[in-house]
Amino acid sequence: MTEDTPTASMIARAGVRDEGTRKELAGIADTVAKSKKAIVITGAGISCNAGIPDFRSQDGLYNMVKARYPSAGMAGKDLFDSILFTDPLSTQVFYTFMAELRQCINGAKATATHKFIKKMSDRGRLVRCYTQNIDGLESLEGLEVCDVDHNKNQVLQLHGDIHQLKCNLCHKVEVYTEEYTQTLQSGRAPPCSSCFEKHQLREVAGLRTGRIGALRPNIVLYGEEHPTADAIRKMTAADLRRKPDLLLILGTSLKVTGIRSLVKNISKVVHAKGGKVVYINKTQLPVSIWAGTIDYWVEGCCDEWVDYMKEAKPSLWEPKQLQLPKMKVTKPKKISNKENEDPILPTSPSKRKTQCSDKVTKPKKAVKGKSHLPADVFSDTTMDLKPDTKIFPNSVV
Ligand SMILES: [Zn+2]
Repeated sequence: MTEDTPTASMIARAGVRDEGTRKELAGIADTVAKSKKAIVITGAGISCNAGIPDFRSQDGLYNMVKARYPSAGMAGKDLFDSILFTDPLSTQVFYTFMAELRQCINGAKATATHKFIKKMSDRGRLVRCYTQNIDGLESLEGLEVCDVDHNKNQVLQLHGDIHQLKCNLCHKVEVYTEEYTQTLQSGRAPPCSSCFEKHQLREVAGLRTGRIGALRPNIVLYGEEHPTADAIRKMTAADLRRKPDLLLILGTSLKVTGIRSLVKNISKVVHAKGGKVVYINKTQLPVSIWAGTIDYWVEGCCDEWVDYMKEAKPSLWEPKQLQLPKMKVTKPKKISNKENEDPILPTSPSKRKTQCSDKVTKPKKAVKGKSHLPADVFSDTTMDLKPDTKIFPNSVV
């Protein structure tokens, strides 16, 4: 999109059978495939096919939890707002809901989009994936996931991790146990074991004992100060110094202020490098906000776009070609083998090759995956998205 493009042209809904759209999709696929340093930002849209039940639906998780607390007058969105801690009953609902939601997530599977991000990482093309999701499904694919740690983590969870518990007093992070799960399901917060230990030591020493903190799901709620904002800023700055050449935004409507700033900052660096910002989501963004920041919008489900990419650029799914180390192989010299002297034999080329082969794995033959899309979608030799999937090339202004 450019500043002088009329808004209406962006909404020129070209059908996917349209040649122009086909070319635009192919162009975006080329951009993604050529990228060597990509930053990915993800939201709830990448997990919608993971098998996590929609907790907002009529017979969803939230209504089930609400039935246990009939006098609680909370709306679904209140479950993610820190104001809930001002009311004991809301707090109980929160603990129960989060424990049950985590149980649902435990039965979920990584999606095609999670697998795509892993492939980017495997091929050394991923600078970092910033996710707003708290489900941690990336770890199912073997990606290193954390809320914030150090530079080696491939996925940074901006809003925390539902699989962790954190003390509201000493901030120690603990992993779930079966006992903790049951306590939370009953609407209570387990006491922090670290605080409890200190409490006991002081008691034995005859000192004044302090408070014992409570363990709560380690997620960031609306209205809360972000506990790791500084660490995230440092990590982002380090990522930008690597000069990323692609920003891929997947399955998020970018409504949170923090994520908007992140996208704007990253896009400046990507554009300065000559790269592109590609947005894949079902819903459109306001042009007034995103003009000049986002270059392409592909309207549709992230997994469908990933399936398209798999057909269009199968090489992205192949193992990274390993470079053999540069070795100088010299012809063995003839060495005199004097009597009573230990023979000194040079390492033969074949031996050296064997030594190196410990580190070099032969790339496996790529297996072309079966498309998850209906058969008619890829019925011809050219690729296409689902009929209702559209693209807005150079979209937003
Ligand atoms: Zn504690």
